[in-house]
Amino acid sequence: MRAVFPLVLALVAALPAQVHPPNLLYTAPPGEPLAGLRICVDPGHGGQIWGATRGYTGGTRSSVSSQTESDANLRVGLFLWDLLTQAGAEVVMTRTFETRLSEDCFAAPGSDEYVANRREELNIRVRVAETNDCDLFVAIHHNAGGGPGANHSTAYYFDPALYEPDPDETFAEHSPESVTTSRELAQAIVDALGERLGIETRDARHGNYHVVRETSLPSVLVECAFMTHAEQAEWMEDLAYSRLAAIGIFEGILDQFGQTTMEGPSVEGTESTEEVTP
Ligand SMILES: [Zn+2]
Repeated sequence: MRAVFPLVLALVAALPAQVHPPNLLYTAPPGEPLAGLRICVDPGHGGQIWGATRGYTGGTRSSVSSQTESDANLRVGLFLWDLLTQAGAEVVMTRTFETRLSEDCFAAPGSDEYVANRREELNIRVRVAETNDCDLFVAIHHNAGGGPGANHSTAYYFDPALYEPDPDETFAEHSPESVTTSRELAQAIVDALGERLGIETRDARHGNYHVVRETSLPSVLVECAFMTHAEQAEWMEDLAYSRLAAIGIFEGILDQFGQTTMEGPSVEGTESTEEVTP
């Protein structure tokens, strides 16, 4: 029996430190606080193949494994779907498995055909949100670059006042109310994500990204964390990370749109308490 204790100690020592709190028991608050909202959740990219251009829809990649951004985005998106549904929201997913949405494209990267295919891939996501008459559009992404130490959460929205289009360029109309909602939602998500993941944040800001530029409804693009930060990338392979990131995004949405009492003001009764400078 005496030999058991060193064995147990060795096993315990081999376990990774529990850095992040368990979150699998987390549930949405009762009372369906998001009832009446229809939310389009867009896990960015899809069908991404490591190191290949075939079927490639863009996306970053892990610096420590073969995990693709497409996979990281989908995991978070599926957990977010669950939480939003628990809270009474109606959820429209642009994808629920590892696939691209447009036709396969075998044209050379950068060619007209390739660029047109990429545009169509993104347009499909916009159309899913618009044709389903969604109230919100939330695109989920993971970042890369900025050096091996770079890691933070941020989010983007589109503000036409900060955009200088080419002379003949057209893009979706964005009402001032929609821009305000997008900006406030983006910041609320950044704040909640940073708190949940325990990483730095960058304030939400205007970004010229197709899916937020071409949607007229309130829309945000979330960059949860960096796939090129070694520790973060390793954590990202754990479903507990995906769940936690989804909780952060969910709490940001809840902060902006959740009913504040059980009698519950509706979405129209939601108000923001913070003035956010883009
Ligand atoms: Zn991306």
